[in-house]
Amino acid sequence: MVEDERTIAESVAARLRVEGFAVEIAGDGPTAVARFRACQPDLVVLDVMLPGFDGLEVCRRIQADRPVPVLMLTARDDETDLLVGLAVGADDYLTKPFSMRELAARVHVLLRRVERAAAAAPAALTVGDVEINQAERRVWRDGVEVRLTPTEFDLLVHLAGRPRAVLPRERLLADVWGWADGSGTRTVDSHVKALRRKLGADLIRTVHGVGYALEVQP
Ligand code: CA
Repeated sequence: MVEDERTIAESVAARLRVEGFAVEIAGDGPTAVARFRACQPDLVVLDVMLPGFDGLEVCRRIQADRPVPVLMLTARDDETDLLVGLAVGADDYLTKPFSMRELAARVHVLLRRVERAAAAAPAALTVGDVEINQAERRVWRDGVEVRLTPTEFDLLVHLAGRPRAVLPRERLLADVWGWADGSGTRTVDSHVKALRRKLGADLIRTVHGVGYALEVQP
């Protein structure tokens, strides 16, 4: 739990402990990165506004170390913060003020998603020059390993499961994020953008007004 406002940090930690999680608190950017490396958490709840360096920089640094689900907290419904957050590898976000019940629910959904994806994983999937090892959650393009966040990985696996087929954004949102109401399709766009940046712009085709398709490179 990374947050400099002690009251919020303590309430979130208390709620998550009730849910059965072991929780550590960090109150600034540098401490968050150091604690992350020391205690290897399964998930990070991360506030954007922090002393030292901000939550976006924390997210960049920890995701470069090791892919981990990140639930980002934003102070206001600021779309810029949100889109930047998703671009640096946050998997989900909550806008303050939020209820502890909502926070706990999002944490469970995120963890379940990662666990389910790992359990359902056939050993390997190869589409064109993209090679995916689902058990280890690793990806290579043209023999070069590419580091993806948990959500980027799940999105790629979904697209790769039906190469060339156009998958509507609402469906991706429901299948990858577990969001049934169809709002938040910008989240899908941000993650597609990140995948293109990391794996190559030619990999995913945009079908305007509909969704995305994974192209198979010869
Ligand atoms: Ca803060």
